[in-house]
Amino acid sequence: MTYTTKDHLIDWLRDAHAMEEQSETMLESQASRLDHYPALQQRIRAHAVETKEQQGLLEACLEQLGSEPSTLKDTVGKMTASAQAMSGMMATDEVVKGAMAGYVFEHMEIASYISLIAAAERAGFPNIAQTLRTILTQEDAMARWFEEHMAYVTVEFLDRDERSNRYG
Ligand code: MG
Ligand code: FE
Repeated sequence: MTYTTKDHLIDWLRDAHAMEEQSETMLESQASRLDHYPALQQRIRAHAVETKEQQGLLEACLEQLGSEPSTLKDTVGKMTASAQAMSGMMATDEVVKGAMAGYVFEHMEIASYISLIAAAERAGFPNIAQTLRTILTQEDAMARWFEEHMAYVTVEFLDRDERSNRYG
């Protein structure tokens, strides 16, 4: 059986869908523990909403190609995110580690969508490529936000930590 370019595209769109399931679980568990960091919490919640929309967009792309998301891949994505969230909870500096993990994750998404856009063009589905560009713009914006706020989150954490040493 030959694996066509379209087959690869379908496969990678399903990977992207699983990645967005992982992203949603990760962002939501992160946001739920950021009550002391309202700006970060708000931005992460907004991206969680975008992430759910991205899942819908990917589902539409897969439907156009006569396919659908992979239940198995999606489940693995969500389980991976839960495991990551649990290991992150053990750390007192989880807000800093979480921001770093978020920054890395957004860049993995950026790499995936750049690759997917090329595959969609190559397979002859320019409208799918266009949808993927919309998603890529959102991932770029989120990655930039993490980059621009990394130092602030770190200093804010250290500030809170020093205060709790003094009064705690
Ligand atoms: Mg995403
Ligand atoms: Fe993202």
